[in-house]
Amino acid sequence: MRVFVILPAAGLGTRMAAGNATPGAPKQFLELRGTPILIHTLRAFTTLPSVAAVYIAVRKPEIARLRALLKQYEDGQYEGGDRLHIIEGGDTRQSSVANALAAVEGGDDDIVLVHDAVRPLIDAAVIARTIEAVKTHGAAIVAVPAIDTIKQVERTAHGAIITATIPREYVVQAQTPQGFRLGLLRRAFAEAEADGFVGTDESSIVERAGLQVAVVPGTIENLKITQQGDLDLAEFFLSQREKPRS
Ligand code: C5P
Repeated sequence: MRVFVILPAAGLGTRMAAGNATPGAPKQFLELRGTPILIHTLRAFTTLPSVAAVYIAVRKPEIARLRALLKQYEDGQYEGGDRLHIIEGGDTRQSSVANALAAVEGGDDDIVLVHDAVRPLIDAAVIARTIEAVKTHGAAIVAVPAIDTIKQVERTAHGAIITATIPREYVVQAQTPQGFRLGLLRRAFAEAEADGFVGTDESSIVERAGLQVAVVPGTIENLKITQQGDLDLAEFFLSQREKPRS
């Protein structure tokens, strides 16, 4: 059984005003403590010996930039070598992942983990727990309990109106990695494509195929960098990690 990793990194990052890197750089290329976010993420997976290959999906115009970055950081920053593959992403996260999935050369029982390129603080223990849960359940995602009270709303011309309060014990907030047996994810993606369904994560695609997905506890450090404040918070978490323990 092998483990493959897909890092969708083809988002345009329109919610982030790029302040610290090339103007207009998608957020996955912004720097976190002097190293691009994507390289932090890549490092978290390439240091695991069980990872057979990593597929990074980026927009066509970013392919050259990614190649240059991988070369620049390959000494010491991540352990990639010939395990890395660059894939052209699509207009939706789902199509970016589908393109990578088509390139994965694995068997049905192998495991594939999909992880947002913009969640650089994923830790090895959470990845390991996800892999174990996929071995047991076939499909498992990382999630954290909801802290705020969750409201269902209807969008109206006058703003949102609450239609229900969802008890917190029934809610978790999905993160990544989201892991699956390769054959199962391929089948679910094929069904979604045939039906024209577009989901915001892989789990929703597998759920609609009628399959059960287990939940693995995550951490709040595994935040998705979407806005400038998230970058500041990630810098803080990283500085805490690097502090010597007393
Ligand atoms: O846009 P969202 O927050 O869902 O992005 C999550 C991850 O999916 C990011 O790493 C982003 O680069 C990636 N993505 C992608 N292709 C798209 C849109 C998003 O690979 N078309």
